[in-house]
Amino acid sequence: MKDNLVCILIGPPGAGKGTQAKNIANRYKCKLVSTGDILRENVENNTELGVQAKNYIDNGNLVPAELVAAMIKNTMELYGININYLFDGFPRDIEQNVLFEKILNEFDLSVKAMIYINIEDDVVFDRLTNRRICPKCNRVYHLKFYPPKFDNLCDDCKVELITRDDDKKDVIKKRLEVFQKLTHPLVEYYKKQNKVIEINGNKNSEDVFKNIISGINCFR
Ligand code: ADP
Ligand code: AMP
Repeated sequence: MKDNLVCILIGPPGAGKGTQAKNIANRYKCKLVSTGDILRENVENNTELGVQAKNYIDNGNLVPAELVAAMIKNTMELYGININYLFDGFPRDIEQNVLFEKILNEFDLSVKAMIYINIEDDVVFDRLTNRRICPKCNRVYHLKFYPPKFDNLCDDCKVELITRDDDKKDVIKKRLEVFQKLTHPLVEYYKKQNKVIEINGNKNSEDVFKNIISGINCFR
């Protein structure tokens, strides 16, 4: 079995996964694979996958496991197996995890650690209704806590920020239910293997990052 760093980043919607993901990936020289970002890009570009995924995303449901797993396999074939990987928002349920383990096995890889960022439900709504993202680089902003320097423009790309279509109250509620029912059991699964780094996401993002780094370093 290869010794590459393969990490899963998981947590309820709004926990801060996207905010932390790029920094973690830079720190450990990981290829960052965010299934949410890839799916949204496909929806935006009206690809066959995007057309299939759109309704699920708009309603806060999970896109079918076989579509997402195929997307992951293609990505890994493209980037190769001799690198580190950080998966943001994948796998999302037991079915995806079974397919994921199969793919990793084919590549002689295995999951090293799951980073689980946790926050309470009442924090989620404030975080997501104030979230803005850059459609070009996917950088995440918060209107109160992490606002852009210039009115509604990405600091890096100077592109107009957008609100995600699924950051509406009723869809957020559905996504939280889906997380508790379908995704959280994976935390229990990886806990049994002593692979979970549990992080309190209700701190400022610099402290969250520091705690993630200390957690990952224990696995290296
Ligand atoms: P996720 O990818 O888990 O859905 P994001 O990283 O997109 O979450 O963060 C959701 C919202 O919360 C964004 O508006 C982001 O700027 C903000 N945010 C992220 N981390 C923190 C934090 N530690 N404290 C306050 N707000 C945060
Ligand atoms: P995220 O960007 O991780 O918040 O995901 C946004 C939406 O994209 C989710 O509510 C799902 O509809 C879809 N999605 C993202 N990742 C996955 C995944 N691994 N499996 C199924 N659906 C996903």
